[in-house]
Amino acid sequence: MNSTAQIKSLYTLFSPCYLCPLNCGVSRLKGERGICNAGVKMKISSATLYFGEEPPLVGSYGSGAIFFSYCNLKCVYCQNYNFSQNGVGKYVSITKLAKIMLELQERGAANINLITATHFLPQAVSTIKIARKNGLNLPIVYNTSGYESVAVLKLLKGFIDIYLTDFRYGTNEWAVKYSSAPFYTEVVSAALKEMYLQVGNLKVNRSGIAKRGLIIRHLLFPNGLNELTNSLKLIKKAIGTDVYISLMSQYVPVFKAMNYKEIGRRISKNELLRASFILRKFGFKNGWIQYL
Ligand code: SF4
Repeated sequence: MNSTAQIKSLYTLFSPCYLCPLNCGVSRLKGERGICNAGVKMKISSATLYFGEEPPLVGSYGSGAIFFSYCNLKCVYCQNYNFSQNGVGKYVSITKLAKIMLELQERGAANINLITATHFLPQAVSTIKIARKNGLNLPIVYNTSGYESVAVLKLLKGFIDIYLTDFRYGTNEWAVKYSSAPFYTEVVSAALKEMYLQVGNLKVNRSGIAKRGLIIRHLLFPNGLNELTNSLKLIKKAIGTDVYISLMSQYVPVFKAMNYKEIGRRISKNELLRASFILRKFGFKNGWIQYL
């Protein structure tokens, strides 16, 4: 399938909307909104040089991050709830976003980092195509919760150079309770396989900047060692242990998290220590651990 056909297929999944595994089937072109609450027009919260990603994605000047408004997951602890769940942001056309991407490139961005773009994929991918035609030559990062449909991921082949995905829950109980994401472990395992198939393991250039590949993030929760253990088991089963894992310790109980005793605090040093031990025990040697 060529890139025009891929974009056309993405638009056919837009309305009725089947862009993510929640498969709402709402007619977005008629003004209906699904679980993510995204409308027809692409909306972003910000576009900026961003230093909060893993070292190979940041380089000297930062990652060219584009934060999309809305999200298909309803995480009770979301730090970005203002734009992810309340939809704060500004509408942006495809041509305008292509211009923004080129500006980020001029400012020295190490990549273009599409953060939670699932619900606007037809427009986001059209934007990449236009920006490429106009001189964009940076790697494109697809920064995702991992809760993606394989059929949709297949349509991204060739547009995405780096998949930066979460694998946050090892049990469907936690995924439903804290993110309203049914069948999470099955969905994310399948998505992971497809991403790995497309881009393989992480490759960096001589300066250590990521050019292609997959990075998996695991956000460590308080009382979450069982979630970590099961996540690693599932990752190992899906794609083995060579993949780069980013173990994140930055969890803060914001938004609605204080309503849940289990996750109503930060993680402890002891939990992080035990987590790094579990990671090694499973045989994952590549990646990063964010220390407290
Ligand atoms: S992208 Fe939004 S509207 Fe479409 S299926 Fe997912 S949650 Fe529903």
